[in-house]
Amino acid sequence: MYDLAIIGAGPVGLFATTFGNLHNLKVVTFEALDTVGGQVQMLFPNKNIKDVPAFSTIKGKQLIKNLKSDISNSIVANTKIQSIERKEDYFLLNETYQAKTILLTSGLGAFHPKKLPSKFDNPRVHYFMTDSQKYKGKTVAILGGGDSALDWAFELANANCNVSLIHRRNEFRGLESTLEKLRSLKNVKILTPYLPQDINLQDNLLQLQLRSVGNSETQNIEIDNIFVAYGYKSDTHLLRKWQLDLDSEGVVVDTTMATNIPGIYAAGDCVSYPGRVPMIALGFGEAQVAISNIMAKLFPEKKITLHSTSI
Ligand SMILES: Cc1cc2nc3c(=O)[nH]c(=O)nc-3n(C[C@H](O)[C@H](O)[C@H](O)COP(=O)(O)OP(=O)(O)OC[C@H]3O[C@@H](n4cnc5c(N)ncnc54)[C@H](O)[C@@H]3O)c2cc1C
Repeated sequence: MYDLAIIGAGPVGLFATTFGNLHNLKVVTFEALDTVGGQVQMLFPNKNIKDVPAFSTIKGKQLIKNLKSDISNSIVANTKIQSIERKEDYFLLNETYQAKTILLTSGLGAFHPKKLPSKFDNPRVHYFMTDSQKYKGKTVAILGGGDSALDWAFELANANCNVSLIHRRNEFRGLESTLEKLRSLKNVKILTPYLPQDINLQDNLLQLQLRSVGNSETQNIEIDNIFVAYGYKSDTHLLRKWQLDLDSEGVVVDTTMATNIPGIYAAGDCVSYPGRVPMIALGFGEAQVAISNIMAKLFPEKKITLHSTSI
């Protein structure tokens, strides 16, 4: 019987595991994938993150390495939690694991990238870009206008690729400072407003046909690889099945990070409340709020020691 089962080992679930262990809770943390680290590990392991407190800059994969050190005994990877059954005074997960409380840190849920139509299916059309060095010196196209598209363009440009960044609008949604850096690079071409129209393989090169948005002008570009960064569909199917209250952004929580189901708390990107922003450091704070309130619930007779210096 665990005190706390954490669902999802993204950065927030990893930190929550450490914080729970620090407070002597018996914690188990489940991760659906064989790799922990969530969006950071899967989408931007090589990005220099500059807004995690106490690090002027830290690479995504280094942040995850730091977060997972010392908690390997608490992590159960390759285990997607599919079912939560409420028993008298505990929860039964996947008909196997018993826990008195649950902290959901499932982020976007399972990763489902938004895809191009099937005519674009080709082994050189990718929906993740985790290692820019694999494409060193190639000619590549990146489709999309958000942070992933800009970050991938920057990483691939730094790997000496010739990059065409293609977006259907003239305005980008991603960080303005990254866009500015991209505009200053000689090996980056920004093509807007264009949509991919067709694709062919000729002489071992992909011929990507682009159509200008708003008129019928087309142009062809020759590339080695295409990276599609159209975002990810969040999978709320399981959360609904578990009868959690959801709004259009995620799981509704109160100020203690409690959900509508007594004993189930939530933190990180799976959570929704007015004004929330999807940031790693915010998720860390939410995990601390949730676990402090979980301790008060589990051990009402105990005076809760909040600060690690007093434990
Ligand atoms: C391109 C990009 C750049 C970004 N840059 C920054 C930045 O510079 N700074 C910053 O602060 N934030 C940044 N973010 C946001 C940041 O990545 C997220 O806020 C953060 O990853 C949220 O962490 P999380 O642990 O809540 O969720 P996630 O990272 O989404 O992790 C959730 C984990 O839960 C697992 N999971 C889901 N369902 C289940 C289940 N049923 N059973 C078991 N496991 C499950 C998933 O597999 C996943 O590993 C960026 C995001 C993107 C997309």
